[in-house]
Amino acid sequence: MPLSLVLERKGKLSLREIDLDQDLSPTDVRIAVHTVGVCGSDVHYYTHGKIGPFVVTEPMVLGHEASGTVVEVGSQVGHLKIGDRVCMEPGIPDPASRAAKLGIYNVDPAVRFWATPPVHGCLTPHVVHPAAFTYRLPDNVSFAEGAMVEPFAIGMQAALRARIQPGDTGLVLGAGPIGMMTALAALAGGCARVFVADPAQPKLDIIGAYPGIETINIRDTPAAGAIARATDGWGADVVLECSGAAPAILELPRLARPGGAIVLVGMPVDPVPVDIVGLQARELRVETVFRYANVYDRAISLIAAGKVDLKPLISLTVPFADSVTAFDRAAEGRETDVKIQIEMPSETLGRAPDTNPTAQAAEKYKASRRSQGHRAFADRS
Ligand SMILES: [Zn+2]
Repeated sequence: MPLSLVLERKGKLSLREIDLDQDLSPTDVRIAVHTVGVCGSDVHYYTHGKIGPFVVTEPMVLGHEASGTVVEVGSQVGHLKIGDRVCMEPGIPDPASRAAKLGIYNVDPAVRFWATPPVHGCLTPHVVHPAAFTYRLPDNVSFAEGAMVEPFAIGMQAALRARIQPGDTGLVLGAGPIGMMTALAALAGGCARVFVADPAQPKLDIIGAYPGIETINIRDTPAAGAIARATDGWGADVVLECSGAAPAILELPRLARPGGAIVLVGMPVDPVPVDIVGLQARELRVETVFRYANVYDRAISLIAAGKVDLKPLISLTVPFADSVTAFDRAAEGRETDVKIQIEMPSETLGRAPDTNPTAQAAEKYKASRRSQGHRAFADRS
């Protein structure tokens, strides 16, 4: 049984062996996990035991932001081969569902998402995943960056929903990891400048270091005043709400220009008041974001092209053996931490982290399977 990071129940994590269903179907690939990012949702399950209707009632493997190396491919998989470096989209819809047929598979009620009860996550040495939701990483995109594609995909979804036009002024409320990802996606999506508003100066210092991003510390300056001054009183073309904070949501109509767009990314814990007449008086278009659909390819292309650099947002990399420590650190919520990543041990990988692709991981995996008495799978490399 694989050694995995298991959330036993609220407040209790352990690194232990757990039985996982890892059968490979003809359309799946098996992946040796390399890097996994710690997400706010993983931490929330750890500290609160639930998110909305999703409650942890049985031990669950955490983690959903992953990259790794393909070690086995199903017989019907065409676009991936053993040794490919990949990242994985953690939400798997029913491909025959109405939502999937409409292309909005992220809102398929039957979607199975890693580390969302009762589905196990990827903080385990190997995962089996549909090849259709597994994406090859270009040689110049590291495993660490590959594991950042998942949170960046949410920013991408927000930028796409905003329908940004070249030269727009963007305003992002909230400088948490998703706010930062959204700001970078908005910039890459054509905004001439993006303002990021938050009360935490250390967070603003991190995102404000990117060219094209300006920061507003709302402890000193209300966002409405700052954005009015920057736009001659007109307002931002697109406002991307990533804080989930009730006062920010109430203020949204005063931040956008007439006819502008508001994208709701942040998730308030409880229902919050909305100024509907304020929205109507400027005929603002309101969009919502739930995870993402059809953005992984675009996200990887932007990273590979050098148009988006997510490396400065990786604050700390911790070995798998110290996973619990990594979660405790993430739960502290330090203002200088953006993304904490966990790296699987090199014995699993069969090679040094982040070197050029080799098939060594696959060889190592095959050898271990043979030694366990499994029949070696067909060699496709
Ligand atoms: Zn995440």
